[in-house]
Amino acid sequence: MSYLVAVRALCEFAARRGDLDLRFTPSPSALEGMAGHATVAARRPKHYECEVALQGEYKQLCVRGRADGFDPEHHRVEEIKTYRGDFHAIPDNHRQLHWAQVKIYGWLLCCARGLREIGLALVYFDIVSHKETVLTETHTAAALRQFFEQQCEQFIQWAEQEQQHRTARDAALTEIAFPHASFRPGQRALAEAVYKSALSSRALLAQAPTGIGKTVGTLFPLLKASPAQGIDKIFYLSAKTSGRRLALDAINLLRGDSTGPLRVLELVARDKACEHPDKACHGASCPLAQGFYDRLAGARAAAVKARVLDQHRLRAIALAHQVCPYYLSQELARWSDLIIGDYNYYFDTSAMLHSLTVEQQWRVSLLVDEAHNMVERARKMYSATLAESVFAHARRAAPKTLKGALDRVRRLWRALYKDQRDTYQVYRAIDSKFLLALQQACAVIGDAMAERPGDVTEALQQFYFDALHFGRLAESFGEHSLFDITLREGGRSFRASELCIRNVIPAPFLKQRFANAHSTTLFSATLSPWQFHADMLGLADDTVAIDVDSPFAAAQLDVHIASGISTRYQQRDQSLQPIAALLAQQFGQRPGNYLAFFSSFDYLEKAWRLFNARHPGIPTWQQSRGMTEGERDRFLHRFIPGGRGIGFAVLGGAFAEGVDLPGDRLIGAFIATLGLPQINPVNEQLRLCIEKAFGSGYDYTYLYPGLQKIVQAAGRVIRTEQDHGVLHLMDDRYGADKVRALLPRWWKLN
Ligand code: SF4
Repeated sequence: MSYLVAVRALCEFAARRGDLDLRFTPSPSALEGMAGHATVAARRPKHYECEVALQGEYKQLCVRGRADGFDPEHHRVEEIKTYRGDFHAIPDNHRQLHWAQVKIYGWLLCCARGLREIGLALVYFDIVSHKETVLTETHTAAALRQFFEQQCEQFIQWAEQEQQHRTARDAALTEIAFPHASFRPGQRALAEAVYKSALSSRALLAQAPTGIGKTVGTLFPLLKASPAQGIDKIFYLSAKTSGRRLALDAINLLRGDSTGPLRVLELVARDKACEHPDKACHGASCPLAQGFYDRLAGARAAAVKARVLDQHRLRAIALAHQVCPYYLSQELARWSDLIIGDYNYYFDTSAMLHSLTVEQQWRVSLLVDEAHNMVERARKMYSATLAESVFAHARRAAPKTLKGALDRVRRLWRALYKDQRDTYQVYRAIDSKFLLALQQACAVIGDAMAERPGDVTEALQQFYFDALHFGRLAESFGEHSLFDITLREGGRSFRASELCIRNVIPAPFLKQRFANAHSTTLFSATLSPWQFHADMLGLADDTVAIDVDSPFAAAQLDVHIASGISTRYQQRDQSLQPIAALLAQQFGQRPGNYLAFFSSFDYLEKAWRLFNARHPGIPTWQQSRGMTEGERDRFLHRFIPGGRGIGFAVLGGAFAEGVDLPGDRLIGAFIATLGLPQINPVNEQLRLCIEKAFGSGYDYTYLYPGLQKIVQAAGRVIRTEQDHGVLHLMDDRYGADKVRALLPRWWKLN
């Protein structure tokens, strides 16, 4: 078996030493880097050779790469690195890596040109001053050969182990058996569809009800399909922590059977994994960053042996080796087979898993859990806001050298809205002069951060990062997004504005993400209508959609429509009394635990007050704004088996989805809303934008997202085939055929 490896990858694996150093160093853009290389090359004599392709072998390893430059007369190989700011701020581990690369090229050149000795040069090119700082060493071919072989040896051992792991993993997955005696109703249909989508390399939208075992029903067939399809990795992406937990539980269930050596990794956000939140990620500040690369190999070897790395196990291994758990998990993403993490690891603007997929040319399959959240989450990923209040704060505290650039931004910023009469207005384009000024301000702030980091306040940094994100999205601004300005009174004569690039249709951004995956399954209990998700997310035309039959019978859920009640904004006050009466009547008929959902905290509060005043004997508890995790737990703990009372909650909030209260922990729900997003200037602009793209503005903006929330909330009642419950849909609009058509097929409306 032979392995092919790039010089850079070989060095990154074997030659990194020293501290982790993630201090922000503004790096040149790709274009600036290319221009820097060209400038250096143009300064060299005529005989200088650029981009010299090289290749060498060691045992079964083939190492390939391109040296930046070679001077054949002076026998000197050069590695050119462009940078911005203070030369001494280039982290030591980067320098080590650069030396390792040039040494390998040195050896490959000695072989190719029959040299006994060679000069090595690291050329650091400052893209602002165009000054070169050149570090040189001279090595014999024998010394370089020794270095080359040492690096290769380390890599070969690892590569062989990885190859053996892959063989064993694939053998185990080929034989993997379903962990239960039989499939639950609907689960087989789901599993078959996932398996076929992997075989045909297509996307699948699977609407599958709660209770059929979706997690095992999607993981099992994809694991089974992996060996034959040559799938390198599966990414299980979820919107919430609870989704990650379910995936880990499913893996433990499957492991009890036969997943064998499968390596599973849970990714958690940096602020959750960090051991020293008061420190910065570099060796001078954090002990787990100090010497990180010196201890990484040991930690990596121990971690891959552990196989299932949830955040707790990963933390234990990281601390045993004194390395940062968060950055260890990032390294392990390269060596794991199944990675469980938030959507943003694959779909965000600079998502790590997606970048690695492209860079390493992995064949990956995606499982996207609770996929009804994707449209909203993706919109947030591809939107950016610039607040004038943040800018004003940053400008006030900025060093004098930056004032000119910031003043120009301020002038052009104010010109953007000088004629704006309404509080909110959408513009067709973003003024190019303003964007240029913003870009120039970012460049000078970036230089200041690199050269005089002490001068840059936190406010200026925040503005800088906001502006970079805004600038990046401005480059791809188009019909999929709005550019709007919201004006707020900011005291005295100052009107503070907020500029927003507001993504409406994430499809153009996500299309390539799906295309880079071998197959994708998006699954949820609420994914209809398919076309809405396919259009908004940019799924390919050959995407397959399935609607898995519910295991629940109509007799399990009594669905009532209270058509005499209107929950429209104008009629809310009149609705409070009949709602309270209905709640009390239902509770009187069948005392037990209920959830009552409202469209806003304000509505909830009014309904709760009236209900308590009228029916003080019925226990109630209510959701409040910004509840802590402990408060949320206490709310849910009121739903004890055999308990009695009504929990008041808001639709779309923490208790409207992902909450599992089986049996008599919850016997019914009241939904006092149609769930439609509020009609306001922003939503109306969304509607117009979508109308232009797909011709279904109202449905895509209001009706479908609203009904999706209703079905999610109602889904809390029946969790198992033994559950029986009642659902009251309180609004006259539930009577409309168009609305009824969006409710689950297995419900029987009374
Ligand atoms: S422990 Fe925290 S501060 Fe230290 S390197 Fe890790 S993330 Fe950074």
